[in-house]
Amino acid sequence: MPISRYLDYLIQSGNYEKYMTKLVNSFNPEAAKNVMCKNTLSVSWDGYLYDCDFNQMLEMRVNHGTPNHIKNFDVNKLEGRKILTGQHCYGCTAGAGSSCGGETV
Ligand code: SF4
Repeated sequence: MPISRYLDYLIQSGNYEKYMTKLVNSFNPEAAKNVMCKNTLSVSWDGYLYDCDFNQMLEMRVNHGTPNHIKNFDVNKLEGRKILTGQHCYGCTAGAGSSCGGETV
């Protein structure tokens, strides 16, 4: 997953472009169907909501007008929310998917 220390390593070692190209070229729509952000939320110790634990690591709270704190929890709004995505999402959708629930069988 190209985030945090591993992303730093990829950049510093000169492998970032090659790695991201491989992830992007390995995009699999079947793997994308079941990524965990489609049916799970991550909740931080202080009650903020995230689309997944990777987004939590990146401090990308649920957004797009949807309540982003447990005190304002609204299942209907959250079910229809737009998920915050980034380059790291290619780590969930490459090849057979990731162990977060998006893996294909
Ligand atoms: S990293 Fe992206 S695709 Fe994977 S679960 Fe999180 S938001 Fe969804």
